[in-house]
Formats: sequence, C-alpha cells, structure tokens
Amino acid sequence: MEKIQMTTPLVEMDGDEMTRVLWQQIKDELLLPYIDLKTEYYDLGLPHREETGDQVTVDSAEATKKYGVAVKCATITPNAQRVEEYKLSQMWKSPNGTIRAILDGTVFRAPIMVKGISPVVKTWKKPITIARHAYGDVYKSTEYRVPGPGKAELVFTDADGKEQFRQTIYDFECGGVLQGQYNKDSSIRSFAHACFQYAISTKQDLWFATKDTISKKYDHTFKDIFQEIFDEQYKAKFDELGIEYFYTLIDDAVARVVRSQGGFIWACKNYDGDVMSDMVSTAFGSLAMMTSVLVSPDGNYEYEAAHGTVTRHYYKYLKGEETSTNPVATLFAWTGALRKRGELDGNAGLMAFADKLERATIDTIEGGVMTRDLVGLWEGEIPARGVNSLEFLKAIRAKLEAAL
Ligand code: NAP
Ligand code: MG
Repeated sequence: MEKIQMTTPLVEMDGDEMTRVLWQQIKDELLLPYIDLKTEYYDLGLPHREETGDQVTVDSAEATKKYGVAVKCATITPNAQRVEEYKLSQMWKSPNGTIRAILDGTVFRAPIMVKGISPVVKTWKKPITIARHAYGDVYKSTEYRVPGPGKAELVFTDADGKEQFRQTIYDFECGGVLQGQYNKDSSIRSFAHACFQYAISTKQDLWFATKDTISKKYDHTFKDIFQEIFDEQYKAKFDELGIEYFYTLIDDAVARVVRSQGGFIWACKNYDGDVMSDMVSTAFGSLAMMTSVLVSPDGNYEYEAAHGTVTRHYYKYLKGEETSTNPVATLFAWTGALRKRGELDGNAGLMAFADKLERATIDTIEGGVMTRDLVGLWEGEIPARGVNSLEFLKAIRAKLEAAL
C-alpha cells in the first residue's frame, strides 16, 4: 500500500516519561507505516527544555502559529522535587501555560466514549465537551489576609491618574480575608470566538453559564460579550447548521447537564471549568480517555491528552516491569491533529485515515481488548482482556490493517 502523503507539516511537541514512551510506540506502530509523516519536531522533554533555557517551548508555540496545527505529548511541570531530580537550573514554567499564553487559546476537553464503559450519569449518551476560559479571575487574583479592624476599598485610577471609582468593600470590625480579581474584555472576546468557532467546527450546541444575577458587573459582562458576538457574527451560521447557543445561570446549567443526554459544548469561566472538567471527566470514566485541544481565536489548534506523564508507571517501566498505560488519549491527539491538518489542506486521504484509526481503537476496546485501567470499568458482555500498552497498539494495528 502506498503511504498517505502530507503537504504541510504538523508541529510535533514531544514530552516526558511514560507518555514519551507511548509517543514513540504510537508513531512506530500506527503512523509511520501508513503515512509519509511530515512534522516539524520540537523536543519539549524536560532535559531539552533545560538545555535551551525553555526557548524550545516558545519556538514550538510560534511554529503552531505558523502552521496552524500541533500535537503535543504530556510534559512535566517542574516542582521542587523535579528541580532536584533533573538537576534544573531553574523551575521552568508549565509548558502548557507558556503555549496557552502565546496562542491566547481556549482549552476544550472531551471524553472518548466506548460501548461497554458507561458514564456514571446514566442519561449521558454523547460526550460533553468542557471549554474552560483559562485566563484571569481567581487564578490571577490579589489576596490579603486582613489582620483586624479597618476599611477595604475598591479603587480605580485611569491612565491619566484620575480616580474614576472608589467604593467600600467592607468595614472590617475584626480580621478576615480580601481578594481582588480581574478579567479583560479582549480575553473574554477571544474566549467567546473560540467557543463559537469550535461549536461550528464540531456542529454541536454551545452552552454558557455564569452567576450574572449576583455578579451584575463582572459575570454580566461575560454574558453580554458572548451575546453580542453571537448576534453579530455567528447567529446566521448557527441557524444554517441547526445548532443552538444557550445561555443560563450556572446553577441551572449544572442541573441541566446532569439530566442531559450530552452532545454539546459547555463553556465555563475559569474556576467553573477547572472544577467541572474534573467532575465531568471522572463521571465519563477515565482521565486516560479524555482528549484536550487548545483553540486560538485566530484558528490555531494544539491537540493533546488531558492526563499527565503518568510518572508512577514510568518508574515501573524504568525498573523493567511491564506497564499497561492507556495510550488512547495520546493517540486521539494525533488523529485529531491529522484530521485537522487534512481539513485545512483539503487532504481527504489523511482525514479518512484519522477516522479509521479512531474506529480501529474503539473497536479494539469494544472487542474486549484494553489496557488494565479500563478493565475495572468494563461492563461489556464479552470478558475484558487486559494487555500491556504495546500489545494494545498491536491489536489496534490489526484492526486498522483490516480497514485499510
Ligand atoms: P497523571 O500523569 O495524569 O497520572 C495520574 C494517575 O492517573 C496515574 O498515576 C494513573 O493512575 C492514572 N493515569 C493517568 N493517565 C493514565 C493513562 N494514560 N493510563 C493509565 N493510567 C493513567 O498525573 P500526575 O501523576 O499528577 O502527574 C505526572 C506528571 O505529569 C507531573 O509532572 C505533571 O506536571 C505532569 N502533567 C502534565 C500535564 C500535561 O502536560 N498536559 C497534565 C497533567 C500533569 P494509577 O497510578 O492509579 O495507575
Ligand atoms: Mg482541576
């Protein structure tokens, strides 16, 4: 069989530990034999970030802006223990944070569903994608531990030095806590564009919710900006596709999500997205079956798995012990990126390959062959057979060959 050709390269961001091992296995078993794979390779593994003073992370993000599509392996975010372990000259920042800041993107997380592993919430039949606004609010807040009686005020001074606003927050009669949060119109607008565009590109309804009844300036601004952008720029396209934009209060949204069948995108403010994405991913089954894509407002895409580098398994692997780490989310990061590349380049062969590879993966699990993390969740009729990562990839390969 002739290999599928690519015209434009993908930006490939390699990573760390167990997922770096899986990365190579996925390429060797399921991609290189079938695709004339063109990538611009950036090694974001921690040793190379150290060697380049983290310049490689910045370069990979810039390359994503140039080519439009990237696929990323999980990477270590260093903490004090990692600085020691890898003899780092400094505690490098989270690569995901750096990339997100450069691309100004929104992260969409969606579960991969298979028959035989059912969500904890029985009504959920289709995936729920969470879109988290990954900028500002409590994550960039200023906090103060109030020691005792005194007055806290909110003050705004404009760029000319003129005081425009002053209001008492609270007249403390005792100690307490205080917090100042902000967000920017430009970031909220980017978030809204990314959500509407992703809804169009995946043909799903978009839900958005805030606490606008209580937060009449802060949250209400999010609501207003979304509505304005929708009405002016996206309503016609939504109507044409038969999809809906639906705004409601966050409390109402939570209740509706639990009673829903799924199959929509739920846009969340930063904190809501942080909390709800963990709730939704756990309820769908496993972090190892959760994909993540960063979408920038100017239409760049970076695909990855939602989980980390699976350190515990890696230490076992280093000792020569057999590991059964689930490669599905990492594999779907590749298929997502290949499909998007195909879409942008008008490369139908590449898109069809991505579809077949995903189908082969799902069929393998539905046929009872899976990594051990899934065995405990399995409710299918045929008994589950837990295999190691490489055996699992080879089983997918057999199904893929039959489909090609
Ligand atoms: P993790 O790598 O997601 O793993 C946590 C646990 O979840 C694992 O020990 C394993 O449970 C289970 N798990 C996750 N993915 C799995 C898979 N594919 N197959 C089977 N089991 C899986 O999170 P972590 O241990 O907190 O973080 C490890 C490193 O990853 C850290 O250095 C962190 O900075 C980094 N990280 C990177 C990203 C990213 O690049 N996007 C995201 C998160 C974390 P059992 O041990 O019970 O089998
Ligand atoms: Mg969280």
